[in-house]
Amino acid sequence: MGSAASKAARAMVLVSSNTRNCVTCGRSISWDANVCPYCGRDYRMGAYPSQQSQGSGMGGIRYVLYILSFFIPLAGIIIGLVLIVTAKDEDSKHVGKMCILIALLPIIIVLVCWLAAGLLVFSFL
Ligand SMILES: [Zn+2]
Repeated sequence: MGSAASKAARAMVLVSSNTRNCVTCGRSISWDANVCPYCGRDYRMGAYPSQQSQGSGMGGIRYVLYILSFFIPLAGIIIGLVLIVTAKDEDSKHVGKMCILIALLPIIIVLVCWLAAGLLVFSFL
């Protein structure tokens, strides 16, 4: 975006015509169009955003975060909250929610164990 080469290319196309070919569907669309009216390709994201780029940043890391959340619940809750607050895409928000849910699991297990142990102690009294 904004490089001299792309500006030159854009200027050349502007000289020849006011349209360009959509990189996804190949149809002629306006240079000023942010989104292709035919296939919905979004040109605001940059020159060549791949369809898989969304959430790829969280690809394998999410499982590390889930495991971390289970063994270190406090870290999981903090990571989850940070992800939900700072995430720009739904996928990262989802990972954040999962981190908090997974972080709550061992806490619930410990509470249940305490309750069970408490009941056991009381039953012997
Ligand atoms: Zn298109």
